[in-house]
Amino acid sequence: MSATVFTNVSIYDGTGSKPFPGEVRVEGKRIIAVAKTPEKLPRDGARLIDAGGMTLMPGLIDGHSHLCFISAIDRIQKDEMPPMERHFYYMLHNAKTLIDYGFTSIYSGGAVRPALECALRDEVKAGWVPGPRIKASSFERSVSGERNKWEMSYDEALQFVRDMVDTGVDSLKLVIDGHGARNPAHWEDLNYDEKTISEITRQARENGMSTSAHTFTAGGIKRGARCGIRVLYHCQFADEEALDLISARGDDVFVGPTVGVSYAGREEALKRANGNEEEARQKAGGFRIMDAYHKVLPEFRKRGFKLTIGGDYGFPFNPIGRNARDLEILVKEFGFDPAEALTYATKNGGDIMGMKEELGLIKPGYLADILLVDGDVIADIGILQNKDKLAMIMQEGKEYKPFRARQALPMAAE
Ligand SMILES: [Zn+2]
Repeated sequence: MSATVFTNVSIYDGTGSKPFPGEVRVEGKRIIAVAKTPEKLPRDGARLIDAGGMTLMPGLIDGHSHLCFISAIDRIQKDEMPPMERHFYYMLHNAKTLIDYGFTSIYSGGAVRPALECALRDEVKAGWVPGPRIKASSFERSVSGERNKWEMSYDEALQFVRDMVDTGVDSLKLVIDGHGARNPAHWEDLNYDEKTISEITRQARENGMSTSAHTFTAGGIKRGARCGIRVLYHCQFADEEALDLISARGDDVFVGPTVGVSYAGREEALKRANGNEEEARQKAGGFRIMDAYHKVLPEFRKRGFKLTIGGDYGFPFNPIGRNARDLEILVKEFGFDPAEALTYATKNGGDIMGMKEELGLIKPGYLADILLVDGDVIADIGILQNKDKLAMIMQEGKEYKPFRARQALPMAAE
């Protein structure tokens, strides 16, 4: 069995503790041992990687992006529903882009072609194509994936579950309120009654599937929280009662604020209004959502909600590959502690993937999804958006991006 020992690393282990100097030993697909300096690990039969003080941390985990949306950071595209034969390649490119940027897992925020997403998941899992480990999602629109159709009757919902079980998805996505994000006039609309949502979550559990929901408004969040939805997305307009309902679910629910897409929406609106904030504010939902996040995010944190990152990446103005920007936004705009924000992308990430006993931490027994970052991720969390600073990417013990030592500078200044 292949073994690697990383020495001279600063270990961010995913628990929210500050990084510490130490060593990590990997055998096969798993982390076998972690030591804190001055303790040393056995080197027998192992390849040694002296990382020169780089940060060693868990692979990043996105909790809400769209592999089926076709804009990647180096390939911005406007059409939303390409023909199948092109869509397939765009998704391959998205998967490769995600892992190139250090994301070794993704819990999908919704598919437009669920069967394609399942096939990609299986190909990655079997090692035929590069990409993050995928939890594949259902359609995120109507039963049939029809656009501009949001409501679902009880009978349609049951058919939807049967179809998605047959397709083999890992998660069912419901748009409980609104017509997506772009149409503020409909944000408050509720698309399913409680009986329907409860039956969907019951059947999902019975079939070993997760559930997630688009919930912008207090009404939507309450419905999702009461009816057992496992992952509540967005949640920016939560009121006190909605917050209490989430609290009452305890460990049983995730909250996925999607700051990345709203930040990008605000940025775009400002650009279009030539920097005139008043004008941009009139037109863009992104402003209202960011303002709302300033009110609710401190509350989410105070109540200890299980937060995840995943800013709805895949749109032309918010492409796949920029996913780590969520972390910088949480720290710089919302004042989160960087070591804590990183737990949303690591420890809580493993949890949302349904793998909390073996994914998201640097800990003996955990899968060796490991990044070596040439820099201090706590002092500069933005560094995670720079793929050139990722000196190694390991996924289940395989070096996807082989280790590259820091290049010696002509004037190696300390
Ligand atoms: Zn989304």
